[in-house]
Amino acid sequence: MTGAHHLHELPRLNAGDMPSVWRLKHGDLPDFPPLAGTAETDVLVIGGGFTGLSCALELAVNGARPMLVEAGPIAWGASARNGGHACTGFAPGQAGLERALGREAARDLFDLAESGKRLIATLQRRHGFDVHYRPGYLTCAATPRHVRALEEDLTELERLGHGGCRLLEAEELHRNWLGTDAYHGALLDPHAGLLNPVDLCAGMARAAAGKGARIHAHTPALMLEEMNGGIAVRTPGGEITARRVVLAANAQNGALWPELAPYLIPVRACQVATTPLADILARTVIKADVAAVTDTRLPPAYFGLTPGRRLIFGAGASYLDRPPLHVTPGIHPHLKRTFPQLSDVPIDAAWCGVMAVTANRYPHCGRAGRSGDIWFAHGYSGQGVVLATLLGHLVARALLGDTERFELFAAIPHGPHPGGPLRAWLHAARMAWRMIRRQPD
Ligand SMILES: Cc1cc2nc3c(=O)[nH]c(=O)nc-3n(C[C@H](O)[C@H](O)[C@H](O)COP(=O)(O)OP(=O)(O)OC[C@H]3O[C@@H](n4cnc5c(N)ncnc54)[C@H](O)[C@@H]3O)c2cc1C
Repeated sequence: MTGAHHLHELPRLNAGDMPSVWRLKHGDLPDFPPLAGTAETDVLVIGGGFTGLSCALELAVNGARPMLVEAGPIAWGASARNGGHACTGFAPGQAGLERALGREAARDLFDLAESGKRLIATLQRRHGFDVHYRPGYLTCAATPRHVRALEEDLTELERLGHGGCRLLEAEELHRNWLGTDAYHGALLDPHAGLLNPVDLCAGMARAAAGKGARIHAHTPALMLEEMNGGIAVRTPGGEITARRVVLAANAQNGALWPELAPYLIPVRACQVATTPLADILARTVIKADVAAVTDTRLPPAYFGLTPGRRLIFGAGASYLDRPPLHVTPGIHPHLKRTFPQLSDVPIDAAWCGVMAVTANRYPHCGRAGRSGDIWFAHGYSGQGVVLATLLGHLVARALLGDTERFELFAAIPHGPHPGGPLRAWLHAARMAWRMIRRQPD
């Protein structure tokens, strides 16, 4: 990919969106000053979410003194707005990877994706923070037909050596696991779970700054210009000259480097959180030792209990990135249908975030620009808690000269979303059609 000079408007930053319940009630994110004046750096990371912070941390640990700019407060994007589900593998499963790359490479990628969970554990140990991870993950069948799809998922996971998963029949699910009869069965994965995403962002940000990363919040990158031997990045208060740039703005990467835009569709998703549930009520919702739940709807409903026993519940998505006027009326009825016992529990917080979805729903990473010095990783398609943390790390490893695992990801073939400038509309229409047909995603 080549490109020389791009001028951009200020990025749209979910403006007006409320911060998530993680940020409001369960988190403590450090603040960083905006950049004033000019600066020089070997590596500039643009975006302070999982991808950017993980990348900056690994570079800093290795003495590279990166600079990171974030348009809003640190982790203002999806990384502090998500459900905290630490998922297994890839959103679309293995079939697309196997078709494109063969079974062996696809298997290597699955193992690599799973190593992202170990990376998060290692980062906590090494840097002394805690994301309060709890294991146990249910994927629930929304229709009887979807039970068949879960059986196939189980067979695939077993083939990949991801042992210990099992299917729960509707009766057992209802009796022992979830206080709802909305589902027809579930797949239990003991190797996925729930973490506090704000703790992960805060831990990585503090550790990176402690190791010498220069982090500037409230500093949007406005313009990138490739020059001989470097890239100039304009910010409201100055200009940064970098030898290499990492685009870690996920849904905004297409605005920063327009050649990437056709590969991404920004999808806005919203969630609500209840007030803290009494212990006895919480145990009528999630009865067993399971941390997070999703279902096979398209788009899925997903939920989990925070350590403070708030139920976080997400459902629906806007493929046209239209900020909703009100979040709660769109989601609360769904929550009440699923858990009628919570009908009178007040909603304490409601918020949205924007993720980026690729055409094949596998993460997209690589190098852009004439010189190849503009690196990018994005498009985790709803599974970025583990994958974005991993990809940020792998981009850093590649910048340090250890390219092998980054290259494995970069080998995943990606095409633009069809439809050109109308791609978001076309995608929305296709999703609507699939929803009407109630096909498993
Ligand atoms: C509602 C919701 C629920 C989700 N639930 C889950 C889940 O349960 N599990 C899961 O695995 N994934 C989930 N995801 C997806 C996951 O949150 C994302 O894949 C992940 O956060 C992507 O991380 P990132 O660092 O690449 O991007 P982001 O977190 O979006 O970070 C990009 C950052 O770049 C900044 N930025 C943008 N433009 C500029 C600029 N010009 N200059 C400087 N900075 C800029 C933004 O402010 C932002 O902070 C969810 C997403 C949403 C929206």
